[in-house]
Amino acid sequence: MINGVFQRTVDALKRLPGIGPKTAQRLGFYLLKMPEAEVVSIAQAIVDLKAKIRFCPVCQNMTEHALCEICADPTRDRSRIVVVEEPSTLYAIERTGEYRGLYHVLLGAISPLDGVTPDDIKSKELLDRLGGDQVQEVIMATDPNIEGEATALYLTRLIKPLGVKVTRLAYGIPVGIDLEYADDVTLIKSLEGRREL
Ligand SMILES: [Zn+2]
Repeated sequence: MINGVFQRTVDALKRLPGIGPKTAQRLGFYLLKMPEAEVVSIAQAIVDLKAKIRFCPVCQNMTEHALCEICADPTRDRSRIVVVEEPSTLYAIERTGEYRGLYHVLLGAISPLDGVTPDDIKSKELLDRLGGDQVQEVIMATDPNIEGEATALYLTRLIKPLGVKVTRLAYGIPVGIDLEYADDVTLIKSLEGRREL
């Protein structure tokens, strides 16, 4: 018989992606054996994450401030927007130091099989940013898989009629690999070799 509190912890952990019942139970036992102060600090970090971090109202990147540091930086080139699925890809591109424009984080990709529709990603927020004539190019840096390609195609159809140039990263990146795991050189080359859609 598993204790109710323990089961509640396991059930909670199981709600995280990639954590099945066995892993959740193993993590539960692990937490039980850890010093209390360490467990409290993990729990507090999660509470702080939700309390202090929000999504930038302009680009949907993570931030602790009113705007993320990229949107708030007056030296960034405001004529270009790189569109990514998750903040992790934004950080991978930032790490290369080669891109000085802005970003837009979709917080997902269109995936009919998983029930993710265009309304579930931050596509409207992207289109809202293209109203003026400041943005001249939107660079699609969604992942090179079925969902990422479908998302890029969907957005391109909506953006091109607005008179904004749309480009797609060139891929030395193997199909099916998440962009966030691409090395810096591959990312730089694929940004330089982007083609117009
Ligand atoms: Zn931002």
